[in-house]
Amino acid sequence: MNHEAIRKRVIQGVRRVVVKLGSSVVTTEKGLDRVAIRNIVEDICRCKDEGMEFIIVSSGAVAAGVRRIKLKGGAKTIPQKQAAAAIGQTRLMAAYEEAFEARGAKVGQMLLTRDDLAYRPRYLNARNTLTTLLSWGVVPIINENDTVVVEEIQFGDNDNLSALVATLAEADLLIALTDMEGLMDCDPRTNPAACLIPLVEEITPLVRSLAAGSPSAVGRGGMQSKLDAASKAGLSGIPTIIARGKVPGVISKIMDGDVCGTLILPAKERISSRKHWIRYNIEPEGTLTIDDGAVRAVLGHGKSLLPIGVTAVTGHFEHGAAVYIEGSGGRRVAMGLCNYSSEEMDKIKGRQTAEIHWVLGYRRNDEAVHVDNMVLVEIDEAEESGK
Ligand code: GLU
Repeated sequence: MNHEAIRKRVIQGVRRVVVKLGSSVVTTEKGLDRVAIRNIVEDICRCKDEGMEFIIVSSGAVAAGVRRIKLKGGAKTIPQKQAAAAIGQTRLMAAYEEAFEARGAKVGQMLLTRDDLAYRPRYLNARNTLTTLLSWGVVPIINENDTVVVEEIQFGDNDNLSALVATLAEADLLIALTDMEGLMDCDPRTNPAACLIPLVEEITPLVRSLAAGSPSAVGRGGMQSKLDAASKAGLSGIPTIIARGKVPGVISKIMDGDVCGTLILPAKERISSRKHWIRYNIEPEGTLTIDDGAVRAVLGHGKSLLPIGVTAVTGHFEHGAAVYIEGSGGRRVAMGLCNYSSEEMDKIKGRQTAEIHWVLGYRRNDEAVHVDNMVLVEIDEAEESGK
């Protein structure tokens, strides 16, 4: 099947779309690009009239804030960026609101931090809010809550946030709009003959190397982080299209199946939404080192991890916390939620399941990490080493 036919087939069943708008799309050197915002909103509304649902993840708060107060040299320190975001975010929302109002559509703002999505009840709550807004025909507009996040709990960039939102919302497609036409076969800044790659069937090290040379000048994410986002969304079965945001009617073109931007197909390997949440939303607080037999059971046979396979415990964590699971030589094989605290694990490591009660005086579970709460991380390690 040629790439045009593949694209048509992918687009056919799409109903719920996450559109990520980069700072380079919604701002100019002078401030918010209201014309660009209006054009994209028009375009979204046309597709919405045909029954599609949209969620916007928009950057631009920091850039708009900096330009509003004419901060010389831009926002450098974290407090400056956060203060600039406080100024820019309201302007950004006002621009969207005005543009959607003109088409009789309503918007709702959701500002998220990584902490919000790391805590399962809040994650599910965020999903409920999103689906309720959509059921009312309202367009949710999401950004990171830049004014309060500290570095450790940042999503990093909105490309990452958009991939997490796509999974959270069970979207059918992620569209990342940027200042590039898509993924190119060489660096367009040094080679004017650079050509668009219309289809990526798999994110290989070669694909990653093509992305390495094309950062975006404004905003935090470059092409690399768009590929990371595509790979995260892909593990949930969601395809991604990276395209230039300032092409008139770009979203309608994409929805018509036109060859516009780069389509990245989802991985053949899929993980459940719960496992996706474990993999990408929570930060492990410790590590369980396991023996070779346990590595085989976990990796080869998809089994739960029992205390008997654990040889060492590092870090300090409560029961239910996320942990890395490593084989000998520090080879990371999985991560998951540990049924026991680090103190308890230390006592029951290397023990038979039947001994847990005898050692602790109680038994929470037979498994140290149940298979349903465990996700293999080898796929991502391969990606990272290919960077
Ligand atoms: N949240 C940031 C903003 O609104 C943008 C982050 C990014 O560029 O990825 O300015």
